[in-house]
Amino acid sequence: MTVKKTKEKSENKRSLHLIHSPEHAGWIFDADHPTQGRRYINAYEKLLSLAKRCDVEIVEVRPRIATEPELQRVHSQAYLDSVLNEALSSEWDGMRPDMAHLASLFAGGTLVALDLLVTGAAKTAIHFPGAKHHAQREWSSGFCIFNDFAIATDIATKDHGLRVAILDIDGHHGDGNENLTRDNPMVMTFSIHHYGIFPGTGESDEAEFGVYNEALQDGDGDEKLMMGVDRFIELAKKFQADMIFIACGADGHEEDPLTWLAYSVEGIVAVCAKVRESFSTTPILMGGAGGYLPDTRTPEVWANAALAIASERRKMREMDELVEKGVSYPGTAGRPVSKEISDAWEVTGKKRDRKARGRTNGSE
Ligand SMILES: [Zn+2]
Repeated sequence: MTVKKTKEKSENKRSLHLIHSPEHAGWIFDADHPTQGRRYINAYEKLLSLAKRCDVEIVEVRPRIATEPELQRVHSQAYLDSVLNEALSSEWDGMRPDMAHLASLFAGGTLVALDLLVTGAAKTAIHFPGAKHHAQREWSSGFCIFNDFAIATDIATKDHGLRVAILDIDGHHGDGNENLTRDNPMVMTFSIHHYGIFPGTGESDEAEFGVYNEALQDGDGDEKLMMGVDRFIELAKKFQADMIFIACGADGHEEDPLTWLAYSVEGIVAVCAKVRESFSTTPILMGGAGGYLPDTRTPEVWANAALAIASERRKMREMDELVEKGVSYPGTAGRPVSKEISDAWEVTGKKRDRKARGRTNGSE
C-alpha cells in the first residue's frame, strides 16, 4: 500500500494533528513519582500557544481505548489479564483501574494517530503520551505499560504493508521497541541514548535485525545527538521507510534529573526539523516518551519539537542563514545559545547549574 500524501496548503501554512484528552492529567503513579500527567496538559497548552504565533493549524483529535486484540499483537495474554482485569502492575502500588484505563487510552491514542497517517488525513501526528518504549511482551518497565509504538508498527507493516523506521531520541535506550520489532524485517529501530543508565542495554548495532544504537556518554550534548540523527536519516533512506515514528523523549535535556546528556531545547528541536526536512512528504508520528520537568523543559521540548516536525521550512531557512553568518548550530552543551537561535525557535527559560541536579535510575 502507498501512503496517501497530504497536500501542503501553502508553504507557510502548516498543520499537525494532535491526539489529546484532558484525561491524560490523571497519569499519576504517586505525588512524588518522576512521571506526572500534568506534563501532557502543559505541553498541550504550550503547543497551542506557540502554534498561534507560528501560524500552524492544530487539529485536535480525541484518543480511544485500544482493544484487547490490538494489545495482543505484542503482549502476552497473562500480562494483559494482570493489567486489564486485575488492574495490577509493578509500576504502581495496589489495584489501580484508573491507571490501567489510561494505559489502554495511551495505546489507543497512538493507534488513532496511526490511522490518520495511513489514511492520508494527516502528515504529522503528535501524541505526547505515546512512545512507551520500555514496555515488554510480558511485563511493564520504566513507567511503560503497553508498547504503543510496537503495536502501531505491527499494524502498519502487517495490515498496510508499510515500512516503518523508529527514531528514539529519548535519553534512555528504547529496549522495548527494539525487542518487540527486531524480528519484523519491515521495521528498523534507531535509538540514541545515555548508555550505562537504565535500562543498561543498547550498546551496539545488530544490523541483521534492523537494530541500530548510538550509545552516548555523560555530557555528549547536541553535536552527538545531531551526528546520531544524521546516521538515522542515511539508514532510513536506504531502508526506504514509508513512515517514521519518533520517540521524542525530553529527558535528554541538560536540566532533566534522569539523564546527563546535556541536550539543549534548540538541539532537540533542530534534529526534529532535520528529520522533517529530510523526509518532507513522509508521514511522521511523534510520541513524547520520557521527560521529568513537567512544568518547564518537558512541555517546552515537546511543543517546539512538534512544531518542527510539522514541516518548519521557513524556520529551517532562518537557521541556515544563521549558519552562514557563523552562528553555532545547533547549540552545543556548555556553550551559550545565541539570542538569534533562541528567538528563531521561540525557546524560553534559563540555563541551570549542572551541579544543582540530582540523578536517579529512573526511566521512560
Ligand atoms: Zn527516558
